[in-house]
Amino acid sequence: MNRWNIPNWLETAVFERDKVCIYCGIIFNDEPRSFRERRSWEHITNNAKIITLENIALCCRGCNSSKGVKFLETWLDSSYCKRKNISKDTVAQVVKDALLNPPALVA
Ligand SMILES: [Zn+2]
Repeated sequence: MNRWNIPNWLETAVFERDKVCIYCGIIFNDEPRSFRERRSWEHITNNAKIITLENIALCCRGCNSSKGVKFLETWLDSSYCKRKNISKDTVAQVVKDALLNPPALVA
């Protein structure tokens, strides 16, 4: 497990899926041009207990710090997203799925 309690199999699966920021689409590489372009772990629904492939993803630090604890739909309406042309139509499939069917804790 890594420090976010993400098991290794899930971490591997997310790294395989998310080669770009799930929100703004910036391509991750090993030598990011700036701190904001670095990848970071994201909980699409802001609940660290929801540790599933549907809720754990990689986004850049710029998007992560802008989103913070906002609800996904609220954040997609923010000036940050407008400025970067991030919308429901431009985000990665995992985010589109989360908008249709928000990840939740399984009882
Ligand atoms: Zn981003």
